[in-house]
Amino acid sequence: MGKIVQDIDAAVQALKAGQLVAFPTETVYGLGADATSDAAVSAIYAAKGRPATNPLIIHVASMQQAEALVHMPQVARKLAEAFWPGPLTIVAPYREGAGISAIARAGLDTLAVRVPAHPLAQELLTAFGGPVAAPSANVSGRLSPTEAEHVAESPLAEHVACILDGDECPVGLESTIIGFDEKGRATLLRPGGIAREEMERVLGAPLLRPPAASDAARPSAPGQLSSHYAPRARLRLNADAPREGEMYLAFGAEAPQGVPGLNLSPTGDLAEAAANLYAYLHILDATGVDGIAVAPIPEHGLGEAINDRLRRAAAPRPQDAHGKHGKQA
Ligand code: AMP
Ligand code: MG
Repeated sequence: MGKIVQDIDAAVQALKAGQLVAFPTETVYGLGADATSDAAVSAIYAAKGRPATNPLIIHVASMQQAEALVHMPQVARKLAEAFWPGPLTIVAPYREGAGISAIARAGLDTLAVRVPAHPLAQELLTAFGGPVAAPSANVSGRLSPTEAEHVAESPLAEHVACILDGDECPVGLESTIIGFDEKGRATLLRPGGIAREEMERVLGAPLLRPPAASDAARPSAPGQLSSHYAPRARLRLNADAPREGEMYLAFGAEAPQGVPGLNLSPTGDLAEAAANLYAYLHILDATGVDGIAVAPIPEHGLGEAINDRLRRAAAPRPQDAHGKHGKQA
């Protein structure tokens, strides 16, 4: 199980047989299953240790396939036309009877859909011909994978039929998730691979803030208040330099020289920093260091999503309550 392959046919056959397949998208590697099969979708939740209340994003090859699954508000169509295929997820009213497993929807009457741009994801979805449920191919709450090796070296490897090899994910951050309120106005549920400013330019209006995390009727982004996207090492944010026993995740040209660590983007390019974020956290974590100090990241453009992930990666972890250090399961 779980070997890295170049062969789309093997991945398609595995999906048709109800098995799990890891595949590259432009955001992160996904853990895919036939979205119409309760059994296949259940296997995703089991493999990741993902709470059943956290619904999955459904991936399809085209806008046409997406429209067969959800009722797209006018504003959603405008965004989809501008950003699909690409790192944009749209949450819209589910078309009753469209065949998506209720487990993948976590029982909601809305559905999250995305048309990914990565050529291998496109090929896989087109050859499979149906919707694929796919969260990130990592253990729930841990660092997301941006290389095939991240999946191959994780506990998920034994749960997947194969890992489709597609090099490094070019965007490197999960998709931007947009929902719509009763008046059809677009709401930013999770910042991600498309910057807020780009979407607001298309909309000609500001994106609304997400509803309060306590609103159970509308689950918003994962771990909004809790720990998510976390490495093993402790994270210390907005640090100008590392302390004793820390590695430094730097950003920009002003970074202190001669300290142990990596620079997300020596030129201060936020897209480059996003693409490097998870890969560099994986590398620093693998050194076995106790702590990673992270430089301040500007809050504009993709910086909003980078800071969102960093804040959750640094949040107190569930196991902290028991006084244990969070080792990966
Ligand atoms: P992940 O697969 O880990 O990137 O997470 C998918 C995200 O999409 C989670 O934050 C879900 O809460 C969110 N999501 C999926 N379906 C819905 C939905 N119907 N309504 C609101 N959020 C959703
Ligand atoms: Mg995830």
